[in-house]
Amino acid sequence: MIKIPTKVLLVDDEKDFVEMLSLRLQEAGEKVSAAYSGRECLETLEKTRIDVVILDIKMPGMDGIETLREIRKRYPLIEVIMLTGHGSTETAVEGMKLGAFDYLLKPADFEDLDAKLEAARKRKDEHEERIRKAEASFLLRKSGDI
Ligand SMILES: [Mg+2]
Repeated sequence: MIKIPTKVLLVDDEKDFVEMLSLRLQEAGEKVSAAYSGRECLETLEKTRIDVVILDIKMPGMDGIETLREIRKRYPLIEVIMLTGHGSTETAVEGMKLGAFDYLLKPADFEDLDAKLEAARKRKDEHEERIRKAEASFLLRKSGDI
């Protein structure tokens, strides 16, 4: 079966980490974009179609939670996985209450990341499929009225 790449946006202020993870995700067949701050993340989302954002919690300036709030507000269908260091798991839980799909503890284990990414992508696809079905049945009912 041909794998359809997940469009991932990786957001972290640690450039080495972003580069390393981007490479691994690309090797796994995903389509990866990178951003190094919350602002840059939102700018990228304006011009690029993204399925899943992998979002660092601790970033200078606009932090992960603030960025998450904006993503949820502007792009409710995009799934977000939070990246957290030891000691900020409470913030990760807060993120999930705000609608993040899941969280990963840094340094992220790649197998774990890959599994969560797959699950997030699946949820987004199923959600979009339900929206399409609802739209189609609404259109059918409307045309039946004529
Ligand atoms: Mg950081």
